[in-house]
Amino acid sequence: MSPASPVLAGDISLGLPIDCVIGDSCYIQNYVDADPSDAMADFTCGNLSYDGHKGTDFALPTGLDLEDNVPVLASAAGTVTATRDGMKDHRQRTAGAPDVTDVECGNGLVIDHGAGWTTQYCHMMQGSIHVKKGDRLDKGALLGYVGLSGMTEFPHVHLAVRKDGKVVDPFRPEPTTTCGETDAQTLWDSPLAYQSSGLLSVGITSKIPDYDDVKAGTAQAETLPSDSSALVVFGFAFGGQDNDIMRLELTGPNGTVASRDVTVNKPQAQYFNATGRKSSTGWPAGTYMGKVQIIRDGKMIDAQTNQITVTP
Ligand SMILES: [Zn+2]
Repeated sequence: MSPASPVLAGDISLGLPIDCVIGDSCYIQNYVDADPSDAMADFTCGNLSYDGHKGTDFALPTGLDLEDNVPVLASAAGTVTATRDGMKDHRQRTAGAPDVTDVECGNGLVIDHGAGWTTQYCHMMQGSIHVKKGDRLDKGALLGYVGLSGMTEFPHVHLAVRKDGKVVDPFRPEPTTTCGETDAQTLWDSPLAYQSSGLLSVGITSKIPDYDDVKAGTAQAETLPSDSSALVVFGFAFGGQDNDIMRLELTGPNGTVASRDVTVNKPQAQYFNATGRKSSTGWPAGTYMGKVQIIRDGKMIDAQTNQITVTP
């Protein structure tokens, strides 16, 4: 990393670029890559990044959440200097994905905040950009909606913060600061907790779901008939680390249907697991509960439940 001029806390103060509750309706999938080599590390020396990542990815749990039109917001007041719209919302690495070479940001825009500071917002929904070049915006102004345009495999807004054209990590604006310090100044208006891992969705269905359906948020059944050939619980999570355990449990009117512990054996940006049981005689009608936990070093660090009704 080249020596950068020190960034002084108070130079700029940023609000969230997205209207959601972090740790609840959204989460942070990737931070700025703080490792100058071809390895990667986020500002905590954790693995929520990838090599060369130049922003922070504020993500929605599944594709279904895009239907809520989640607002992307100006993190600070300023003037719009560039916009792009009109690119398709299409998850990369899936069938029919468009070539996004040189337009990796997808639908997005740049805001100039003065004093050398800019913010850039990427991967927004086609047709959603609410602002144009030259517009003067207040902090928190609506810019458009979260989408799936450009080089993205999951619904999120990528926020890139720059000072004099150089990327700044809003969580660790002073690049000489080593990771592990807890009292470092950030550029955020209010502190944002670091969550290294968590569950994105839990569902119950009648077969091991396709991963694409899990990511899209369409794998979960609402009800299932009692003659279903199988009942399956699945869990979808981010930030898997070596030796994490995903504990899956499915219970019904007669008690446990299936349970399984799956150990993560390599770091996973996102991953899913499932377990279930077949039946040739059918299932008693009633409520079935799926519960999934993430266990790290013997401690439960996240849990989520979901339920369905099995109809007679
Ligand atoms: Zn990103």
